[in-house]
Amino acid sequence: MVENREKSKIFCYFVSMESDEKSFEISRLLCQWYEENKRELPWRQTRDPYRIWLSEVILQQTRIAQGLPYYNSFIRHYPDVKALAAADEDSILRLWQGLGYYSRARHLLEAARSIVSDHGGVFPRRYEDILRLQGIGRYTASAIASFAYDEPRPVLDGNVYRVLARLYDIEANILDSRSEKLFLQLALETMDPRHAAVHNQAMMELGALCCTPASPQCDRCPIAAHCLALASGKVSERPVRISGLKRKTRHFHYLCLYDGHSLYLQQRQDKDIWQHLWEFPLIEDDATDWTALLASHPEIGRWTGRGASLLACRHYRHQLTHQTIQADFYLVRTGTSAGSPSEKAVHIAVNEIDKYPVPILVKRFADQLEALIS
Ligand code: SF4
Repeated sequence: MVENREKSKIFCYFVSMESDEKSFEISRLLCQWYEENKRELPWRQTRDPYRIWLSEVILQQTRIAQGLPYYNSFIRHYPDVKALAAADEDSILRLWQGLGYYSRARHLLEAARSIVSDHGGVFPRRYEDILRLQGIGRYTASAIASFAYDEPRPVLDGNVYRVLARLYDIEANILDSRSEKLFLQLALETMDPRHAAVHNQAMMELGALCCTPASPQCDRCPIAAHCLALASGKVSERPVRISGLKRKTRHFHYLCLYDGHSLYLQQRQDKDIWQHLWEFPLIEDDATDWTALLASHPEIGRWTGRGASLLACRHYRHQLTHQTIQADFYLVRTGTSAGSPSEKAVHIAVNEIDKYPVPILVKRFADQLEALIS
């Protein structure tokens, strides 16, 4: 294990060397391995910062196999930043549907528009300028600046954290934000600044293909001879991940108010999950069933009208990073004098739901609707 004192020795060692003395042996081995083993992916065949940005935003919290069709679809619809900037938000959210973290899609659009308005439609070159764009944090700015322009900025994603934690046998908790500085410094010192693009991608690819969370292939690893966790038998204990995350549970009751032809959708406005996406009228309440919900929300009676009947009820559990959503969907055949649940709700035919961007949770139920009402 590298104790903090020893880590500072590593830094002193790096810092005290003149740049021409540095061999960057680890970086050289990584880059060589990468050229021979990398997966061919569309965003690796370009230095276009727009495409690199798009791929990085899509792949945050998303596996490559899932993200690839979204990437291809975005490039088909919006081949450059000007085309994206001219899009409307609903179209972007609809293309994004299923990827989650919808604020990423909204930020993409805002950033594209500011590139057009503030940078003449040309993607900024420098890390500091990229970082000022909406929704772009240090990781994404580093990825764009290094992959597109070879600016020596270290990238730290989950794969890189794991490789570094093992390579230097780091005991610090990678889920503690205070550890970031240490890992950034290690990443920077490991990188050959002359080959930032290849080096960063090689680190990420090593974590994805070789230095995997379970069963890393140390016998095939190009930097095994330098790996301190391997030498000390601590590979399975690195990285250290201690989560202080507390998830809260929310109970959503969705009312699908069906009059035999149409139903209501409304747009989420609050600063909350799924902002600007569409959904059925929602009541958030801890009520455990329909009867309890009716008892505590008399307004439902005005929406459903006289003689309404409950046709079906479906329950789903939906897991987000910080929240668990327990959702009940009630399909109600409305009766006479049924009213709109809100002034802003739209009354649409059942087959028009697909025109609206909805959370994947709502889509799960919407996909069953035709069968439930037939
Ligand atoms: S030797 Fe094993 S643990 Fe160390 S970096 Fe390589 S794959 Fe990871």
